Formats: sequence, structure tokens, C-alpha cells
Amino acid sequence: MDRIRVLSLNAALGALDYSIPEGLDPVPGSVVVAPLGPRLITGIVWEAERLLSAPVPDEKLRPITEIVPVPPIGAPLRRLIEWTAEYYCASLSAVARMALASGGALKGPATTTEYRLSGGLPDRMTPQREKAIERLEGEQATIRELSEIAGVSEGVLRGLVNQGVIEPVEVDLHRPYPAPDPDHDVPELTAAQTAAADAIAASVTARRFEPFLLDGVTGSGKTETYFEPMAAALKEGRQILVLLPEIALTEAFLKRFSDRFGVAPVLWHSSLKSTERRRAWRAIATDPTEGGAQVVVGARSALFLPYAALGLIVVDEAHEISFKQDDGVRYNARDVAVMRARFEEIPIVLASATPALESLHMAASGIYTRLELDSRFGAAELPTIDTIDLTQEPPESGHWLAPRLVEELEKRLEQGEQSLLFLNRRGFAPLTLCRNCGFRFQCPNCTAWLVEHRLSQRLACHHCGHETQPPETCPECGEPDCLVACGPGVERIADEVAARLPEARIALVTSDTLSSPGKASAFIQQASSGAIDVIVGTQLVTKGFHFPELTLVGVVDADLGLEGGDLRAAERTYQQVAQVAGRAGRGEKPGLVLIQTRHPEASVIAALAAGDRDAFYEAETEARRSAGAPPFGRWAAIIVSSEDEREAKDTAFAIGGRRPQVEDIAIYGPAPAPMALLRGRYRYRLLLNAKRTANVQAVIRDWLAQFDVPRSVRINIDIDPYSF
Ligand code: ADP
Ligand code: ZN
Repeated sequence: MDRIRVLSLNAALGALDYSIPEGLDPVPGSVVVAPLGPRLITGIVWEAERLLSAPVPDEKLRPITEIVPVPPIGAPLRRLIEWTAEYYCASLSAVARMALASGGALKGPATTTEYRLSGGLPDRMTPQREKAIERLEGEQATIRELSEIAGVSEGVLRGLVNQGVIEPVEVDLHRPYPAPDPDHDVPELTAAQTAAADAIAASVTARRFEPFLLDGVTGSGKTETYFEPMAAALKEGRQILVLLPEIALTEAFLKRFSDRFGVAPVLWHSSLKSTERRRAWRAIATDPTEGGAQVVVGARSALFLPYAALGLIVVDEAHEISFKQDDGVRYNARDVAVMRARFEEIPIVLASATPALESLHMAASGIYTRLELDSRFGAAELPTIDTIDLTQEPPESGHWLAPRLVEELEKRLEQGEQSLLFLNRRGFAPLTLCRNCGFRFQCPNCTAWLVEHRLSQRLACHHCGHETQPPETCPECGEPDCLVACGPGVERIADEVAARLPEARIALVTSDTLSSPGKASAFIQQASSGAIDVIVGTQLVTKGFHFPELTLVGVVDADLGLEGGDLRAAERTYQQVAQVAGRAGRGEKPGLVLIQTRHPEASVIAALAAGDRDAFYEAETEARRSAGAPPFGRWAAIIVSSEDEREAKDTAFAIGGRRPQVEDIAIYGPAPAPMALLRGRYRYRLLLNAKRTANVQAVIRDWLAQFDVPRSVRINIDIDPYSF
């Protein structure tokens, strides 16, 4: 009897065995629907010898119900799913769900109905209808999605459909995306750019696995450079995946892409609408020679999709920590991307001006090919960098900008040039307290202060989203008008700029203000056209943007990132400041960067001021080597959490009490995690520091397998954690 093994998308079910009914011909990778009790489940046919399942005798096997009419998941992606689950101690099902986009991409017929405004008006206008008509301008989506966009009920929208104000549109989910033209607008590359582009293109043509570190200073034209091997892959009929760290960056990228290739690429990210998601998934799984997608630009989740003919992967701004996923399957998309390229036997490009130390180490070890672009494109020079020692040149009391920085801002305004102030803190003030009794506003669900957002008039937790209105009186002592804001956030910096430079046109750039692609492109448009004098922003402004008139960058508090539980605090500070500095002087006028700090002598600040990247990386390498930190050793965290503090603590100590004695692995804790309370769950943490040679995953798996914890306790394993 023919028996097949099916990996269910449901982690609780794991792998199950079935028989093959007459007329069906499943192969490894086939997506199938099969019965389980009275229900139907979706899964992927897997090589039986690679996957354990509960033993079922032949006579008890049930046949699968159907094969879903999509191309089978290829062997390279199946190996990637196995590798990811093994390396990150995750379930195979959870990883496989990402490939099938949680199964949602498969469901439904080839066409669907979407809705949009017809231009007509209702017989009777109501506030709800008016709101819907105003907000749905230019939108086309399902009724449910439109109701979310407009903030009105589906009932209101259906009423408008009945009156013909909203009209249905049939959408063909199999219609192909427009084809990028590799010869649309080919730039002339510099000699260094050409050498780098040719090296990558050679690997594309040879179809071999080769990781490239495209290490180019800010403004050197990394994008122009990797566009050329992308063109080469297009000419070979192969697909290209470009991973970007943040959706906010895609707008600027899309513009450059369509300038170069004539059309927009296929987008993939978590907020895609359901029909677009299904259409994109199908196109990705289809060979380009048969109308499939050619270039996919996406967030990290695009990495696990079933590309039919992947030929090249590009990870732009590869050092960005947003490639690390911190819930669900905790993986680092940069590292998994390299593994995908390896299984697919294709080249991959990690592009960055400030590569992760791990990536530089791989290049130094000869595992990655380093391609260097060491000067800016055209006449642009790298900016001059100087520090402002806040202990010597303090801002006026109650202010945050030192006199020298204010002077330079004024000078730029007079000359009609642009300035940018960077502070990695959203909101107005990170802490609000009562002047009378000392009460501090804290999140009820997290170990965190509530951050005042003055623009939206609320106190918000940046970890769980909890929000309240700031009260008139202190909730503790009842005093009126006693609440004071402590410390600056970007809103407060923008206020200070407005007070000191009343003429200046100021743009505040944070995830609160740049919350949609439309707002992002409006900002880019304004900033490029010279309609903005001073940009004040969080880490969103540190990357990607290219504004030729921007000549001054002020880093409001360079010491901020050096505090807290970030394992890579120094590296991240270096990267953020170097990236934001890289926004200055990209045009013809030279740039100046002023870094405000209380520790100008700290090695990372000194290296930034001296423009000596090698000095920083060398010092950091030595520090990591002696701490046994990556890339020389490996960290792993086990986080035990529960809504009940006692339960979390007891479980963590029970686990800690039976720690394995393994040479090459040191185990610390348990101790309360730095975020000891997060989203209403109490968290205890065990930390493992392992030598490179130790199989830390196997040790963790065997260790935790001894415990059967109640459902109310969650155990999360974080391999290569970024923050604790
Ligand atoms: P990076 O990503 O390395 O910081 P960009 O790719 O943003 O640099 O390039 C900086 C600027 O120089 C951009 O405006 C880009 O269009 C321009 N540029 C770079 N290389 C070329 C080239 N070969 N021809 C024309 N313009 C270029
Ligand atoms: Zn919270």
C-alpha cells in the first residue's frame, strides 16, 4: 500500500500518514488537503524518511482528499524549512506556515470581487457615509478591508453598495504582473561599481551559491550596483528577491526601482490585502517564463515563499535589527536568507554601509566575498563629523540642543539648506511624574514607563500598545497641575526647534507620523522639493533617504543606545550614528555632523568622530572575542512566561534546577528578564553562552523535553538573541 507523510500546518498535529487514493499522484512538496476526524487539514507532502510521525497501521490509513492545484514546494525550500526549524528550535509546521502564507494564500477561486467608489452620491448623506466616501478615495478592496480602512461598519458600506455609490469590480487573481525591463534605463557605473556588479552577475549566470558582502560607504551607489546583477538575472528568466528591513523604506526604493526597470516590482509584506496576497503568492510560485513574478520586494516574511525560479537574493541594509523576528518563529532573516541561497544554489548580496560584525567576520574568514565601494558617487564627499561634549557645552536649562548645534541650524536656515535632528525616541517625553508626590506613570502590563505623546494627547506604552489620556490631577495624590514631563522625545525636540527657529518649516518623522505608504511618499516628495527646513526623527530617518540639500545632521543623544539590555549596544550605536551621518552632504554641498554626547571618550563615539570604522570594529571584535559573544561564541535565551508570576518563577527554577552539565556551554539564571513584565506576562530568563563547537540546540531540546508545563506557561527559545 502506498503511504505518504504529510506535514500539517498545525504544530499541535505535526506529521500524519495517509494513503493515496486512485487518480491522485502526490509528490514530495505537494500541498494537500486531508481528513482528520471530522475535519479537513492542509499540509505538505514530505519525504517520509526525513520526518517522524505517529505509527499508524496500514489498515487504519485514510486517503488524502485532494491535491491543491498549486506547484509543489520545491526541495530547496523544504530543506530550508527543516534547517530553520532545527536551528531556531521551532516547529516544522510553524515554519511551513510561512511558506504557504498561513494557508490563506491558497484558498478561494481564481477571481474575487473587490469594491471601490463609483463616483455617485447616496440619496441621503449621514456622517458615517460621508466619512466612508472621504476615506475610500482611491481604495479598492474587499468590503471587510474597506470597513477597516474607512473606520465604518460593513453594514454602512453594504448600504452604499445597494445605492450604487460603491461598485463591485471582478479581480482576476491569475493576471500577471507587468514585466520589469532590464534595459529600461541603464546607468553608467563607476569602475568600482562595475567591478562589484560584474562579480555578482557572474555568479548569477553560473548559478552558484556565493554570498557577497557589498560593503559600500553611504552614498556610494549600492542600489545602482546591485540593480545590474538583478538585470542579469531577469535576462536569464530567473526571479529576484529583495528584502528590505522596513516597509517605510519601500516607497523610496520603489521609485528608484521603477526609474531603472520601468515598472513596479511585486510587493510582499504582512499588511498586504488578502486578494493581493493571493495574487502575489501564486505569481511567486509560477515560473517567470509562464507569467510568474519576476522581482519581489518584501519584508522578512517574503523569504519563505515558494519561488518557482529564484536566481538572486538581495538583503538591503543587511545590518538592520528589524530583520530579526522576535515573536512566533524567532529567526534572523539575514541569516536564513544566506541559507536559502545555499539550498537554492544561487548568489546572495548583503548590502550595507555598516555591516554587522558577524558579516564582516565571515568576509574576513573568506566565507563571504567582500565587495568594497569606498567613496561616494559623483562629487559628494563624506561629511565632517564633530562631537559636542554636553558636560562642557550644555544646552540651556530645560532645553536639549547645545548652543553650537542651534547656531549651525540657524546658519543652514539662512542658507536655504536642510538639517536633520535624530533622536531615537518617539513621543514628547519618556517619563511623566508628579512634582508633588513623585508618582510615575507606569504601564499596567509591562515593566515600562508610559510615554507622553502630546500630539495625540495620550500616554502610551511602546511595548504593548496600552494607552490612556493624561489626567488633570495626579492619580496618586490628587494634586492638580502637578505633572511634569521628564526628558525629551522627538516631539519635544521639534517644539524646541520651532521655538528657536520660528521661521523654519519642520517635519516630524516617526512611525506615528509616517504610518502609511502615502504619508511616506508625501514626506519624501516634500523633503526633496525643498519644502522642509528641519527634519526631526527617530531611527526611521537614519536610513535610505537621499536628500541632496541636507547638509547638517545633529545627533541629539548619542549615549541613549549605550544604555539598556542590548547585547550589541555599541555596534548598534555605531551603525545608527554612522547611518544618520550618512544622510548629510550627499549632494554638491559638504555635510557636517554634530554628535551630542556626555562620553566623547567612549570608544564608539571616538571612532565615529574620527571616521575610523576599522578602529571601532577592531575594538568591538576584541571585546566580543573575550566575552565569547558572536561571532566567536553563541548566545541563546530561554524565556519562561506566565500571567501568574509565581507560576513563571517556579517553572523557570524547576527548569534551572535540572540544567545539563555540558562542557562548552555556560548557563546563567534563571533571573527576571529585563522586561520582567511584558504584555501582562511575567518573564524569567535563562541564558546560555556556548562555544561555537557546541550543539546548543540539541542541548536545549533534550533539556526542555523533560518538562511538561501547563498551557498557561509559555517557553520561548531565542537563538542568537538581539536584546535580552
Ligand atoms: P547607497 O545606497 O550606497 O547609500 P545610493 O544607492 O543611494 O547609495 O546612491 C547615492 C546617490 O548616487 C543616488 O542618488 C544614486 O542615484 C546616485 N548614483 C549612484 N551611482 C550612480 C551611477 N552609477 N550613475 C548615476 N547615479 C548614481
Ligand atoms: Zn505595556
